[in-house]
Amino acid sequence: MRMNDIFEDRKAKVETYKKYRGKQEKLFKVDIPEGLFVKCDCCNEYLFREDLSGSHYVCHKCRFHFRVSARERLRMTCDSFTEMFAEMKTLNPLEFPGYENKIRQYQEQTGELDAFVCGEGMIGDVRVAIGVMDSFFMMGSMGCVVGEKVTRLIEHSISERLPLVIFAASGGARMQEGIFSLMQMAKTAAACKRHNEAGLLYIGVLTNPTTGGVAASFASLGDIIIAEKGALIGFAGSRVIKQTIGEELPEDFQTAEFQLKKGFVDMVIDRKDLKKTLERLLKLHTRTGQ
Ligand SMILES: [Zn+2]
Repeated sequence: MRMNDIFEDRKAKVETYKKYRGKQEKLFKVDIPEGLFVKCDCCNEYLFREDLSGSHYVCHKCRFHFRVSARERLRMTCDSFTEMFAEMKTLNPLEFPGYENKIRQYQEQTGELDAFVCGEGMIGDVRVAIGVMDSFFMMGSMGCVVGEKVTRLIEHSISERLPLVIFAASGGARMQEGIFSLMQMAKTAAACKRHNEAGLLYIGVLTNPTTGGVAASFASLGDIIIAEKGALIGFAGSRVIKQTIGEELPEDFQTAEFQLKKGFVDMVIDRKDLKKTLERLLKLHTRTGQ
């Protein structure tokens, strides 16, 4: 009897520890952690923290791409960048319990007001309108602020006749803003259509993960769709699909490579080649003197 009590107690402790660790690991991903080494999420190789920024936050052994923040992405991609619409803040339109606190917590963790950073920048010699989603901010989910900033960025690129580059990284529409989040899908998609009618180039880059309402709206409406190597790209989660259709899914289901085979994306690029690929594509599609 006593032994059982001890066992139960231990089990409870292990569960608590697991929960605690889960939380820690979540925080852990917000930034590549402090310390000398970082463990690769994919092959468990220990990597020198110092080396990671030089290797675009990609594991040298298995080419696993660590998630990067919006600012880091802009630093890796642009030769110069001026931020726009930076002051926009999220409200709580549905008075969702605890939403304000959650937002504040993410703002403190990431230093961003919401999950999208955008503005004008130079990629090589080409002036572009560029926006990047930050998956560390509430999984890059799209609420009113993200949708509005994406739309304003697209409108800016139309009025300035600039090519548009958007890096998507998102879990989808933001639950806490309900219908207002879903509305952003239609709004951003309509803006993409106007951009297209203006005869301008839009390059969409899908990074890990691009799912839900973001994958189903502006992220997949680019003239050219690039996916970053190994990125998870899809609409619904694979478990839901499996249950719905009652069939086994292929092992590489919803990976960038799978989506390339199916024609959903145009190319899969290793992060180290991404900047020069963008430069080349932008140059090809931009008239000289523009
Ligand atoms: Zn690795």
